[in-house]
Amino acid sequence: MNPSTLFDLAGRVAVVTGGNGGIGRSLALGYASAGASVAIIGRNDDKNQQVLGELQEIGHPALAVPLDLSHRGELQPAMQAIETDLGPVDILVNNAGIVSISGGIMQESPEDWDSVIETQLNAVFLLSKLAAKSMMERKAGKIINIGSMYSYFGSGLIPSYSAAKGAIVQLTKSMAIEFAPHNIQVNAIAPGFIETEMTAPVRTAEMKEMNDEIIARTPAGRWGLPDELVGTAVFLASRASDFVTGTLIRVDGGYAIR
Ligand code: NDP
Repeated sequence: MNPSTLFDLAGRVAVVTGGNGGIGRSLALGYASAGASVAIIGRNDDKNQQVLGELQEIGHPALAVPLDLSHRGELQPAMQAIETDLGPVDILVNNAGIVSISGGIMQESPEDWDSVIETQLNAVFLLSKLAAKSMMERKAGKIINIGSMYSYFGSGLIPSYSAAKGAIVQLTKSMAIEFAPHNIQVNAIAPGFIETEMTAPVRTAEMKEMNDEIIARTPAGRWGLPDELVGTAVFLASRASDFVTGTLIRVDGGYAIR
């Protein structure tokens, strides 16, 4: 096997939810650079169009789908539109996410809880079902879920986020077991603390204490950048990971080891 073609995604179709955001944009551009046709999903169409422009510059077919993943009835038509435009989906990255910085269970409203669980967990279940159905017909596919350090730890600050990211690990393993006979690999990535819009509040003066704690606990001594997740995401989408399933790979500068 030639290592230089092992990671080649030419001819593959990848869907990245939240592909207009910090991490999703990097993954979408990474897949396109590896040769894939890429569809991004996000609510904000201005941001979608910006990333679509960058994808088109790379030169492979690309698509931006304006969609709120919490609108369940719109998921199937969206996946159908992607398939019609780009072809059957080979790679699904469940990356879209929101966080509710409620300060704890006693402060968190049921509405905020539902909205985090709907985006971070229920949409992963629903979209994976749709993608897997088509992947099963072709006996090949890759599903990649985005976990978190809160896949390992609880949080007094963001309990719904932590609940969803914990559940993602078991959902990943469950899908990995069910889909393995169909040659579909399901894995997850647990990013450490990555500089994006979602985490921007932590890097302000108001949350300096938490920021200092993060940097002190991360052996690498810094925040990660979205591009630093691309290598792992391409690995998990490529032939190089055909015998890898049900794993959670940390890309965290060592945060979780102490
Ligand atoms: P961003 O806020 O930069 O991106 C979030 C993305 O999700 C945006 O593209 C947003 O697009 C999309 N999104 C949110 N809600 C919906 C929805 N209902 N329907 C469709 N799209 C939606 O955050 P990150 O890039 O940091 O986060 C990406 C993933 O990585 C998330 O799952 C997050 O939990 C996870 N993560 C992030 C870490 C970090 O340190 N940054 C660490 C660990 C995990 P739009 O608003 O246009 O809908």
